[in-house]
Amino acid sequence: MSSSYDVIILGAGAAGLMCAATAGQRGRRVLLVEHADRAGKKILISGGGRCNFTNIGAGPAQFHSANPHFAKSALSRYTPSDFLALVEKHRIAWHEKTLGQLFCDGSSLQIVNMLMEECAKGSVRIALSSPIRDVGHADGQFSVTHGDTVSTAPSLVIATGGPSIPKMGATGFAYDLARKFGLKIVEPRPALVPLTLGGDEALFRDLSGVATEVIAKANKTRFREAALFTHKGMSGPAILQISSYWRHGEPVGIDFLPAQAPGWAVAAKRARPRTHFHTLLGELLPDRLAETLAKKIGLWGELANLPDRKLEEAARRLADWQFHPNGTEGFAKAEVTAGGISTAELSSQTMAAKKVPGLYAIGEAVDVTGWLGGYNFQWAWASAWAAGQAI
Ligand SMILES: Cc1cc2nc3c(=O)[nH]c(=O)nc-3n(C[C@H](O)[C@H](O)[C@H](O)COP(=O)(O)OP(=O)(O)OC[C@H]3O[C@@H](n4cnc5c(N)ncnc54)[C@H](O)[C@@H]3O)c2cc1C
Repeated sequence: MSSSYDVIILGAGAAGLMCAATAGQRGRRVLLVEHADRAGKKILISGGGRCNFTNIGAGPAQFHSANPHFAKSALSRYTPSDFLALVEKHRIAWHEKTLGQLFCDGSSLQIVNMLMEECAKGSVRIALSSPIRDVGHADGQFSVTHGDTVSTAPSLVIATGGPSIPKMGATGFAYDLARKFGLKIVEPRPALVPLTLGGDEALFRDLSGVATEVIAKANKTRFREAALFTHKGMSGPAILQISSYWRHGEPVGIDFLPAQAPGWAVAAKRARPRTHFHTLLGELLPDRLAETLAKKIGLWGELANLPDRKLEEAARRLADWQFHPNGTEGFAKAEVTAGGISTAELSSQTMAAKKVPGLYAIGEAVDVTGWLGGYNFQWAWASAWAAGQAI
């Protein structure tokens, strides 16, 4: 069986659905091919089932890429307000949680249903449970063999995402296909991922379940949010955020007491000389964490008996505790993949490949990665919209 379209989009995730709806509503004949048995599986599990569908403050500063300027054009042309307007048009109730993060009041399924309805308005044909067997390109036409069908179109959009969470159907297919067309790939790596601790630091794993607000630091980047110790190392929003900036072999600095003013330990000694150092820490941090840190610091006894110099040194250490993660929990646990199809290969206006006319790449497959908090979906919507307008 064979059929022809104006555009074939590979991957019915966030970006693929948005691009299909946009192009379809512009009158393009669109085929959306997905190997899973339903569309938008990552949307369904996102945001704890409520989909953190955008961040009202999303701008280029919250994204990283080998070219930090690349995302600017798409992000400025399809903004969080544009997506919010769509959500409201579909009467989906939403709320702002913290830090500009917008969630559905109900469930993520509402976002998938909304995108499916938008696709239906554009008469998009969606082929689910359709593993892609082959992709060819000749005489200005792309041909995609899926199931027992060969479909052809002058435009092809790679929207198959990155390899994070393979059990949800995620693959590195986008990279294989991009390489086949001669496009360069920026080494993919797990991002927004828990970090693992070993060696001397393995004892922190005994604190599994303990959470506290910290500033996590790596390579001049810092995030003030909660950190959580796990049976493998560290997680929680601050750690997930910093993991995207961390590189193997480098330390992660943790300020365990971001709310304390400089000189707090000596000030406490003057005010309460009879208090023990570990008691003081216990007032500022969860008990088990305070105990572990006090042991590591090795300051015992009443504050009055501890030299100011030692207290200042302890405070400095607590403000920049150096962890040396021995790795991450990998793609199996990474919320996104950093790296991907090099932005140097793509037009920032249209997401079109510069050297292969008619080929486009959008969403997580591209080397643009956002912070935790709705930014990654905003990139999916914005890059998809840019391509959908151009096809
Ligand atoms: C647990 C979890 C929670 C998340 N929560 C949020 C959140 O709340 N807010 C946020 O902004 N971001 C969140 N993210 C990140 C967000 O889900 C992704 O950034 C976003 O889905 C990327 O969209 P995409 O369309 O590029 O890729 P995807 O949504 O991954 O879509 C890719 C599609 O391609 C299909 N596919 C893959 N390989 C093939 C192939 N060979 N043939 C055919 N189809 C294929 C996949 O099945 C999938 O449907 C979360 C991620 C995870 C894992």
